[in-house]
Amino acid sequence: MAKNKTNEAIKIVTAATMTTEVREPASAQDVQAMLTALKDKKAQIKQAVKDQEFYTKYTWVVPGSIRSPSANDFNVLTHAHGKVCDISCQQCGTVRPVNKQDVFQVKYCKECRATVTKAEDKVKRAEKAAEKRAAGMTPEAIKAKMAELEAELASLAA
Ligand SMILES: [Zn+2]
Repeated sequence: MAKNKTNEAIKIVTAATMTTEVREPASAQDVQAMLTALKDKKAQIKQAVKDQEFYTKYTWVVPGSIRSPSANDFNVLTHAHGKVCDISCQQCGTVRPVNKQDVFQVKYCKECRATVTKAEDKVKRAEKAAEKRAAGMTPEAIKAKMAELEAELASLAA
């Protein structure tokens, strides 16, 4: 699975990678320079593959947005550190910068995060209330309550 993802990332990066300049070296120094350039390119490609894997894994990250924090990032993020990237809110599409290391747990803008948390809490409360009521109920009454709960969940998802 992880290997397939890596292969996919390599394909994407290779398709977007600049071509290598191949020419006759003019001197021993030139050979050295060409080798250094090749090493740099290899490191760049490795990093690009890593980044691509990141974009594939965290689909809410804006592709190409991984960067060192800019002055604006420092304004928006209270604790910008390491690399930052942009996410697209999974609810409203608003783009906001986040620390790259936090991406796995940040999918929404602040406003939508509050709404989603509220909705999740409401579902949890409804489930608990249903559990309480279910104690001592007939099978028919439990079925009816379950249908009610499902309808409530459906309306939250809509
Ligand atoms: Zn949002």
